[in-house]
Amino acid sequence: MIVPEKNTDKLDKDVKGPLETPQLDFIRAIIEEDIKAGKHDGRVHTRFPPEPNGYLHIGHAKAICIDFGVAADYGGKCNLRMDDSNPAKESMEFVEAIEEDIRWLGFDWEDRLYFASDYYEQLYEYAEQLVKKGKAYVDDLSAAEIREYRGTLTKPGRESRYRNRSVEENLDLFQRMRAGEFPDGSKVLRAKIDMASGNLNMRDPIMYRILRAKHYRRGNTWCIYPTYDFTHGQSDSIEGITHSLCSLEFEDHRPLYDWYLDQLGIYHPQQIEFARLNLSHTVLSKRLLKQLVDEGHVSGWDDPRMPTLSGMRRRGYTPEAIRDFCDRIGVAKRDSLVNIALLQHCLREDLNKRTQRVMAVLHPLRVVIDNYPEGKVEELDAANNPEDESMGSRKIPFSGTIYIEREDFREDPPKKFFRLAPGREVRLKHAYYITCDRVMKDQRTGEIVELHCTYDPESRGGWTSDGRKVMGTLHWVSAEHAVNAEVRFYDHLFVKEDPFDLKEGEDFKHYLNPNSLEVLSDCKVESTLAEAKPGSRYQFLRQGYFCVDSDSIEQRLVFNRTVSLRDTWAKIEKAQQ
Ligand code: ATP
Ligand code: MG
Repeated sequence: MIVPEKNTDKLDKDVKGPLETPQLDFIRAIIEEDIKAGKHDGRVHTRFPPEPNGYLHIGHAKAICIDFGVAADYGGKCNLRMDDSNPAKESMEFVEAIEEDIRWLGFDWEDRLYFASDYYEQLYEYAEQLVKKGKAYVDDLSAAEIREYRGTLTKPGRESRYRNRSVEENLDLFQRMRAGEFPDGSKVLRAKIDMASGNLNMRDPIMYRILRAKHYRRGNTWCIYPTYDFTHGQSDSIEGITHSLCSLEFEDHRPLYDWYLDQLGIYHPQQIEFARLNLSHTVLSKRLLKQLVDEGHVSGWDDPRMPTLSGMRRRGYTPEAIRDFCDRIGVAKRDSLVNIALLQHCLREDLNKRTQRVMAVLHPLRVVIDNYPEGKVEELDAANNPEDESMGSRKIPFSGTIYIEREDFREDPPKKFFRLAPGREVRLKHAYYITCDRVMKDQRTGEIVELHCTYDPESRGGWTSDGRKVMGTLHWVSAEHAVNAEVRFYDHLFVKEDPFDLKEGEDFKHYLNPNSLEVLSDCKVESTLAEAKPGSRYQFLRQGYFCVDSDSIEQRLVFNRTVSLRDTWAKIEKAQQ
């Protein structure tokens, strides 16, 4: 696995203007050259072009940060364009989800939301122009024949017997394709380029296909649809895009991108490719993620285990952490697999600063404090974040019956166990010292059901005047005040580091992690969380970071564990060095 180096390429925000920055990533370097040379009149105008056929994932976040980030750095603009030329898979649900995710991530396209499907008429005219120039023809070969005639990387393709139709015949057929005279799949419009080209994309690529499918925006207006390649560059041109930034898999499409624009003689943006983000233990492909949703391997696109932005938001990720991650992985030209631990590291750093620290008991064990006055309830002060005084403090109730974590008590403590045991004294965070006197067990099963303790009234706040030391500090909640909660723990979606690294005939789903979700349904959280709204994030002391889920109902909160406290990234980084 390649671990990205700390990104030294990023723009130094402290310097006066981007033009004076010494170290730039390769995209910004190109743009600065273009600005200097006065190309595109010195304008910078990018776009983010998702196809609305699924929800955005963290790979898209990388592209969004680059597209919008570059525009912002050079006082330019970035459009949002739905690249919707495939009626079979697109929908308004996806359009809306995409808009919501980009806004959440912190980017703004202002009034520049565009749809490739709004350009269908113009694209059709462009296609007719190419037909008239003798640069496009209608082909009657079947899909299978076209595939076979295409050849391979080592074998040149063969020309279709329909390739040399006259311009008049092609124009007539193409117009009748649009008019709906031919059945689906019976004809296509192809660019007339070179069946022997070393680049397969240049072997007379398809421009239009006949497809009677209802388009989610254009309804049944069209029965022919342009291909991605014939749509993308021309859409960029129509919008006056200067730099069309996309991921590396489009590199081989660039000659075609350029060919269409050159043949049409229209405004010519520049396509630049960067490496795709691949993340360990997950898949970043809408097609595969859709499979997981459709086949019920996850609860939906926003399942907190999904690498989608909606899933990550529900899990408790912050947009700041995702942007920081995108910044750190930088912009490179070489594909790599980034360890998901780096993403979690960025998240932890951000959550550590912003979340309130509260107490939650995940495996409750009842503790009765025998010498605590009956019916008494005290309000104790608890700092919200000891690393940041400005976050203030809150009052938490303490009473004679509390819950502690089951694993914080051992009847026969091993050597290095510094928590509660019979006869031993520990500190309750923000509260008192307690000593364990008696252990109550279920007669039948032998299970410990309750502890009886005494507290030291002189130790309020967790300190004593005699300076007496205890080994452990435990978190707790007052039994009568605690709020019931379900807590969902998540692990990697895939057990395999690179689920794409498959043996012949293997299905990526074979490597789904059967233990990626664990639910604890009998947890207790402190009463100050009673009114917590979905999306609120907390650090549960000693347990990790958690976020309130939208499945919460009154008197029963549902939490997602966002990320643990343990930073595995630091270890990985150290091992690298
Ligand atoms: P997927 O393979 O997940 O279906 P896609 O490329 O088909 O993704 P699009 O909606 O076409 O999805 O992508 C919109 C933009 O996002 C494209 O410019 C594409 O280059 C970029 N993009 C998609 N996946 C990644 C990724 N993993 N890393 C970086 N950029 C990506
Ligand atoms: Mg795509």
